[in-house]
Amino acid sequence: MSPNDPHYVFCRLAVDKAKLCVVSPTSSNPPPRVAVVFARGSKIIGWYAKGVGGQFLDGEHLVDFVAKSNAHAEQALIEKMHGFDFSDATAYVTLEPCTKKKAAGLCCADLLVQTGFKSVFIANCDPNPDVGGLAWRTFHANGVVTRDFPPELRNEARRDNDLFFRKFHFSVRDSGKAAFDYASVGSRTLGSPGREFNTRWTNRDDGSIYALDYDFNVAVAKHCTSFDEIDDPARWFEDSYYTKPVDEGQIVIFRNNCGYALVKILRVRKQRTGVDAVNSELKFEYQLRYAISG
Ligand SMILES: [Zn+2]
Repeated sequence: MSPNDPHYVFCRLAVDKAKLCVVSPTSSNPPPRVAVVFARGSKIIGWYAKGVGGQFLDGEHLVDFVAKSNAHAEQALIEKMHGFDFSDATAYVTLEPCTKKKAAGLCCADLLVQTGFKSVFIANCDPNPDVGGLAWRTFHANGVVTRDFPPELRNEARRDNDLFFRKFHFSVRDSGKAAFDYASVGSRTLGSPGREFNTRWTNRDDGSIYALDYDFNVAVAKHCTSFDEIDDPARWFEDSYYTKPVDEGQIVIFRNNCGYALVKILRVRKQRTGVDAVNSELKFEYQLRYAISG
């Protein structure tokens, strides 16, 4: 997505507006920093930053307003813009909309569906493993097209929400080994359905291979040789390449909405044709870490 694309501009704006949310670094239960932008084509029609305030389109002009401090960003803006026709509008939210019904009314995911949104961009999945990913299900079931923010903006929003994300840590849920002919298969799925990692591989050399993920959700933990050395898998990720060369003995990390797959390369053999033909071979051990609350 080009930075000139209106979708990119509004994703960028939502990430910037979320920076307005102030969270005390000493808070024992830090709330998320969340902002939402509503737009129609290339025209902004409203935005809100949770606990801060926002603007909505009143006639020709954006007008300031502030909702209750505990109102969710989407809820605040939808309530303020009650009666507005959202059928051709798009919502850009920095954190997955909530899916749990509240005593006072609908959750934000249902609010967006009910008010007629057909298109929603989301920067980050809720790190709470009990609810993470459920908004995608709600939107999918209701015909709402859901798209991710561009990778660099997702990462920025994630970093800006570090205090909130740190409330959830990751624990080992599964581990094992795999060996397969990567030239004929190309990928190996690890983990259970719904939270699986689709590890993908392509040819490099004997003793070395490329791990790939087109959304940049792959990283090499340089100089680490055992899983125990990796306390925070997130720190290894950058946005610049979707293929990572990885050698025997090294550890590559794949990331999805639920956590991390750590994969240590044990053996790589390149495919050979001709008289000494051999199949390609990739052998690795892995450890899957999923978010848990606490
Ligand atoms: Zn909400």
